[in-house]
Amino acid sequence: MKVCVVAHGCRLSRAEQDGIEAEVARAGHDVVDTPAEADVLWLDTCAVTARADADARKAVRRAVRERPGLKVILSGCYAALAPETCASLEGVVAVVGNQGKRADLIADLLETPGACPPSSAHLVPASALTAHIGVPRARRGTWPAVADLPASSPRARTRALLRVQDGCDHACSYCIVPPVRGPSRSLPPREVERRFADLAAAGVPEVVLTGAHLGTYGRDLAPRTDLAGLLGRLVERAGATRIRLSSLDPHEVDDALLDVMAAHGDRVCPHLHLPLQSGDDRILRGMRRAYAARAFADAVARVRARIPHVTIGTDVIAGFPGEDDAAFDATCDLLLRARVDYVHAFAFSPRSGTAAATMEPRVPPRVVGDRIARLRRISQAGNEALAARWAGRTVDVVFDRFPRGGVLRGVSEAYLRLEADRDRPALRGARVRGVVAACGRRVVVPPVEATGAAGP
Ligand code: SF4
Repeated sequence: MKVCVVAHGCRLSRAEQDGIEAEVARAGHDVVDTPAEADVLWLDTCAVTARADADARKAVRRAVRERPGLKVILSGCYAALAPETCASLEGVVAVVGNQGKRADLIADLLETPGACPPSSAHLVPASALTAHIGVPRARRGTWPAVADLPASSPRARTRALLRVQDGCDHACSYCIVPPVRGPSRSLPPREVERRFADLAAAGVPEVVLTGAHLGTYGRDLAPRTDLAGLLGRLVERAGATRIRLSSLDPHEVDDALLDVMAAHGDRVCPHLHLPLQSGDDRILRGMRRAYAARAFADAVARVRARIPHVTIGTDVIAGFPGEDDAAFDATCDLLLRARVDYVHAFAFSPRSGTAAATMEPRVPPRVVGDRIARLRRISQAGNEALAARWAGRTVDVVFDRFPRGGVLRGVSEAYLRLEADRDRPALRGARVRGVVAACGRRVVVPPVEATGAAGP
């Protein structure tokens, strides 16, 4: 069969898309790029906002309209959150949430799509939506192990996503992840090393370690370990492949991790994404975040002291219930004092089943819009300062975006997005050194490097 796998969500969802595609191919089916040419559409949905929910429904309706007879399998967070709604959409033959992302189930579902109608087996009972938090460790077994989904194939992406952790044991009041992804589970270090080695052996220039709550990696394993321990093992094997970390909560950046990053700067990207969400302690308490604003400032200062040329990005939620002007000003002041390099700004989106969904007072949409605009201005300024900091300097760039007839784009080790001075087929997917132009947006790659020789 021709199977199209699409992911709507985060890096973790895209890593799972790669794993599902790998399993589709291993089961002898063809992976195709668009639903229009497919027999089956596997859509991995997202539930981070109400907008994401709507996008999933819209995508299914459009795909089925454009390809009559298309069979649709829905997985992911929205499928876990609203299984009945998903099952009611025309063309949907299976709803498997996140619990159904297992190699064995994927093969079965593709064997006889439609033979496994949406059933309670793969649906998260409503009670779990609120009862999940504090589920005893014993119940972890009801959730698939990270290893149950194969690794992404090396061809999947220039910058490969390596899923090393899933689920979360925290309970931030606005977040839907714990009920739909279950408790934290980690991929054992030996299996991470094996999957990493496969990617490195295939010449993948960059591997991004990802998870639902990466900072808690290894806490559920026996013997217990942590992200610093894992990274320390991987740098020994990295060869020409560099490693990037996805999001970490500010209080999870410990000295052990900084030691590995500082000691292996040629292998571990000097880039950290530290979600702040709010710079006001009253709001952070309302969000049930596990740190105070001071911890973010301290983490940034400690990181910069150890890795001076590091890039630091963050996430901020604008409009959390009870966020007044003073609280938002505190957030902006902290971002400016910490000199963050970029900000991903999100409008608060109440998710049913979360504690924050019923919190008051709500912030008017117009005010939220103004706050998002202000955060984007701060991000723009931070990004311009980052580009100026690197202008004229030599960087290690991986060209990962090469749209047909378009500009060749890449990303430096410090997460600077750069355009190639001119398109060269040999540079596509390559990791090379180049000099950042005065504008800070372009990279000049000397001819010798145009051979696409991997690695600085
Ligand atoms: S730490 Fe909080 S925001 Fe992050 S996944 Fe867990 S509950 Fe969600």
